[in-house]
Parts: sequence; C-alpha cells; structure tokens
Amino acid sequence: ENLTNQIAAGEVIERPASVVKELVENSLDAGATRIRVDFIDAGLKQIVVQDNGTGIARDQVDLAFTRHATSKINNEHDLFKVATLGFRGEALASISAVSHVEIITATEGAIGVRATFSGGNKKGQEDSAARQGTKITVKDLFFNTPARLKYLRSPRTETMKIVDIINRLSLGYPHVSFTLSNTGKVILRTTGNGNLKQTVANVYGRHIAEGMEEFQAKDSDFKINGLMSKPSLTRSTRNFISILLNGRYIKNFQLNTAIMDGYGSKLAARHYPIVVLAIHVDPLLVDVNVHPTKQEVRLSKEKELSRLITSAISNALVEKVE
Ligand code: ADP
Ligand code: MG
Repeated sequence: ENLTNQIAAGEVIERPASVVKELVENSLDAGATRIRVDFIDAGLKQIVVQDNGTGIARDQVDLAFTRHATSKINNEHDLFKVATLGFRGEALASISAVSHVEIITATEGAIGVRATFSGGNKKGQEDSAARQGTKITVKDLFFNTPARLKYLRSPRTETMKIVDIINRLSLGYPHVSFTLSNTGKVILRTTGNGNLKQTVANVYGRHIAEGMEEFQAKDSDFKINGLMSKPSLTRSTRNFISILLNGRYIKNFQLNTAIMDGYGSKLAARHYPIVVLAIHVDPLLVDVNVHPTKQEVRLSKEKELSRLITSAISNALVEKVE
C-alpha cells in the first residue's frame, strides 16, 4: 500500500512546485481569500501553505489523506462538470507518501486539529486551538524516494518553477491575496482586490502592467477577458502567456496559436506577447480528466474558442491603433 502510494505519488508530485500547486489549489477550492506560501531550499527542506479557507473537520482529516478520497466529486456524473481545481483525491495522499507532513486545520467555530503523517503513515493527532483555515507543512520532500531527487534541476530552476506556478495562480485569482516568500523573505505579494491589472503589476511589475490593454469577447459558449501587451512590448519567450480556463492554468498549443494569430504580422519574428487570458465556460464542455496534473484539458468547440480569441485580440489592436 505504501509502495503503491509512492509510485502513484510520482505522477502527481514530480517536484517541489507540484506540491505548491496542489496545496494552493486545495486552498482555492476551499474558498480561501488569503494564501501564504513559504519555502526553504527550493522547497526540498520545507514548504508551508496557509489559508483562511473552510478548513477540514476533525473527523475528516484521515479521509483527506486517503488516496482517491475527495470531497469534491460525489458521483460519476460530477466528473463531467468539474468546477473545482481538484477532484482526484490524490494530492494529499501522494504528498504524504514522499515527505513528512503536518496539518493544522479548523472549520468555523470548531476545535481544530493537528495531525502528522510521514512516508504514507499517520504519526499522530491532537486537538489544536487553530483559527478557521488550514496550514500544511511539508518537510524533506522525497526523503524516501532518492531516485526522484536525481530528476530535479538546479535549486535555482526549481525555485523558478515555484514562483511561476504562484504567478499563474495569482493571475487566475485576482480576488485572492497571495504572499510567496523564500525562507521568510517575501518575493511576491498580490493585493487580492480583484483588479487584474493590479495583479499583473504585482506579478510582472508596474511597467509591464501599464503597457497592457484589456480585451474581452463572448459567444454562446465562451466568455473571455484579459490583458494583452501592445505589440511593442514583447518577450523572447512564450512563458508570459497565461491561459486560465475557469481559473485553472492550462497549457494548450492551439489556444496559444490563436493568441499569436490575433497579433498576426504585428509581432516581430520570435517575439511573444505578454497575455493573461481568462476563459469562462460551462464545465460540461471541458474534460479535465486527461492527465494527473490537470494542466492538459480536452475542450469541446476548441475551434470556435480559437476564433473568438483571435478576433478579440485583433479587434483590440485595431481599436488601439485608430
Ligand atoms: P482533491 O483536491 O482532488 O479532492 P486532495 O488530496 O488534494 O484531493 O485533497 C483531499 C481532500 O482534502 C479535499 O477533497 C478536501 O476535502 C480536503 N482539503 C485538502 N486541502 C484542503 C484545504 N486547504 N482546505 C480545506 N479542505 C482541504
Ligand atoms: Mg487537491
């Protein structure tokens, strides 16, 4: 059972940034409006994620750490309309299989609980006078799966991946205040006031935010909105394009291409715009159950959506030029 958990853990938890992503997605699913993330040694020594979400009831903590136990999907019908970021019930089980985990959590008005898990086994549990919300501390990631450590990149690269995931989640949730710190030193803070431009300023800097324009469009299935850089403000990497589908950061080649097509010949060769694209769609039109990390999704009507994106962006460019 522990071995199964360790193997399965590898699919969801590849690196420290995967832990950060899964824990923060849980905080978002729990309705948190403030999320703090701190890490030490590129997340290998310690990752702490603290939120002010609903918390987990005392008698539900063990279940939360059980594989395939999720409070978010009740039946197979729900699988066709996933509205939360998580739904597989794998993250906490996977993380605790390959690290030492402490959870302190409390629901509204209830006695809190502190529990510890290590290498997939529960170590202890006691009452705790916690405020509503959840704080999870992950120590010594991959301590019992040394082979995993060999696949990691340099501490600098692993740190960049943590920053990248928090950047994208911040952009997807401008109503949530994120604080990211490295060994106690704050490296990103978003206000959480709901203003996307403000969030872009927090993430990429004021200069970039000021060089960006709003765009929006909708058809019978999709509503899109976002911020796009003027053609003069570009980067030599496509990493500054963030696509958020119902708040979920996704990677999708075709939608990237649709954005680039919107700019058309206005972009210099091998230059990429800075774009935050939020897509809102009925979850029924999205299949997120394609890959364990849920970054690849299958979309019905992808062609229609692509056309909508391309025209929204090219229209916005025309309006700005005129
Ligand atoms: P999933 O998110 O796919 O349901 P996880 O393993 O990530 O699976 O989490 C298991 C369960 O633990 C969730 O369904 C949720 O009920 C609970 N949970 C995890 N993190 C939090 C949190 N920060 N706040 C409230 N509940 C949480
Ligand atoms: Mg989850």
